[in-house]
Amino acid sequence: MKILIADDDPVSRRLLENLLRKWDYEVVPARDGQEAWGILRAPGAPRLALLDWMMPGMNGLEICRELRKDVAGNYTYVILVTARDSKIDVIEGLEAGADDYLTKLFHPEELHSRLRVGQRILDLEDRLVAARELLQFKASHDELTGLWNRGAVLEVLKRELARARRSAPLGIILADLDRFKQVNDTHGHQVGDEVLQEVGRRMIASVRSYDSVGRYGGEEFLILVSGCDESAASESADRLREQIAQPPIQTSAGPVSVTLSLGSVSSATFGDADSDALLRAADVALYLAKKAGRNRVAIALPDDVSASCSAPAERPPAESAAAPLRKEEQRHSLPGESPGDRC
Ligand code: GH3
Ligand code: MG
Ligand code: MG
Repeated sequence: MKILIADDDPVSRRLLENLLRKWDYEVVPARDGQEAWGILRAPGAPRLALLDWMMPGMNGLEICRELRKDVAGNYTYVILVTARDSKIDVIEGLEAGADDYLTKLFHPEELHSRLRVGQRILDLEDRLVAARELLQFKASHDELTGLWNRGAVLEVLKRELARARRSAPLGIILADLDRFKQVNDTHGHQVGDEVLQEVGRRMIASVRSYDSVGRYGGEEFLILVSGCDESAASESADRLREQIAQPPIQTSAGPVSVTLSLGSVSSATFGDADSDALLRAADVALYLAKKAGRNRVAIALPDDVSASCSAPAERPPAESAAAPLRKEEQRHSLPGESPGDRC
């Protein structure tokens, strides 16, 4: 462990340095309060500090007070090591934010024990931070695939959409595995889970690092591709489609082939439409991709938003499915087929 020793008296500083090195601590010395403060504010700073009280520039108590103002940053455990030994001094030092107080001349083993107390507290802080991060991860990620969960990816959508209004457009892709029930029915739920996991991995590999992939529902995914107009979004969607279709997914039951249907929209084509309207449009496009034969991409256009707003709770019935999308403008991405073949 790295420990800061701040003392303007070279003899006291050297004594502490020698002791700490003997106990295998890494020592960072500082000759006055200003230098100590600079070291404690720098990246990778020691998390435990032995501070003299009286030092030129900034004294030990001032350093403690400044450290405690920063409630969000990493905690620095401070032991004041000082010649001031009255009860009033001890109280003042602890009230300023020191965690412990040791008067010169101390017994070396007492210092050693107090350093171990500091280490215990810092280890406890590490465990609490790790537990909080794990909870945050679990609250925002899907357990099976490790992707963003539905709530989290919808938050990302809102955030990215606000950003898109100020800068580049956002592509929104809703994807659903084709006839996935059959995979479960044929191979079992466990194999279905393995397929979902690999689909998630392939999706992450298929998009750029600043794009987002979330599990939207059981076998449904929401992919957000930034900086994408309508054609770039549908190209991304088609890349996803290709990545899932080939090669077959290796599972404990052998290779399993699955395909993906996708509905794609871009905020560029939809003016001020909000996230709900864009999702509805993507959902309508996805529905049409399914209806047109699956394993393909359909693009939603602005008219779809108002059309689907009239029936927000449900997908349109089969016979009116083409209405929300301008059929002649749909682009389905299965190679070798013309759009007219499909709807
Ligand atoms: P379509 O092409 O129309 O989408 O057909 P589908 O069979 O994929 O759609 P359907 O909605 O009928 O079935 C979805 C299936 O996805 C049924 C459900 O058991 C399965 N599923 C949803 N979540 C999970 C999961 O976490 N694990 C597994 N193994 N299966 C899941
Ligand atoms: Mg499905
Ligand atoms: Mg589904």
